[in-house]
Amino acid sequence: MKKIKQAKPFTLNDFMVRFPDDAACLEHLMTIRFGRTLECPKCKKTGRFSRLVSELAYSCPWCGHHIHPMVGTPFARTHVPLFKWFYAIYLFTTSHHGVPAKELERQLGVSYPTAFRMAHEIRKYMAMIDGDPKLGGHVEADETYVGGKEKGVIYRRDVEWPQYSTRSTPSRLLQP
Ligand SMILES: [Zn+2]
Repeated sequence: MKKIKQAKPFTLNDFMVRFPDDAACLEHLMTIRFGRTLECPKCKKTGRFSRLVSELAYSCPWCGHHIHPMVGTPFARTHVPLFKWFYAIYLFTTSHHGVPAKELERQLGVSYPTAFRMAHEIRKYMAMIDGDPKLGGHVEADETYVGGKEKGVIYRRDVEWPQYSTRSTPSRLLQP
């Protein structure tokens, strides 16, 4: 962990390098939510989970238990590819005036109801971050963060969603 002294703009190029595809986005989600080496919730041994080819999941090197990083997040409840979600979040974090659902519909090539729902979920998450008093003082970050809004952070380790431990219940924040 290191402190960010000054927020650097997170450009589209930065975004594309960091998150070129669904796999990179999933890897990020896995890393920030569970870590890549963790204690398996099933067999309790610690090991580096490996990405499954056939599923959006990671598997325990010891017992083969699967962890699905998208489960418990809004990403799991749509058929929208993860990359599009991340890009939508990127748009939100780089826009000063918010992003209308119409704009998401156009840019992502999704239906209006889908765009509307995505915008709603992202706003909900960002509002939660904005209202977090922990954000007022200092910002700690490491390479797992997406970068973006104000302090260069979209996902913070200390914010409940999308980070939760394998032993806790999924975040209360975005539960239906
Ligand atoms: Zn295991």
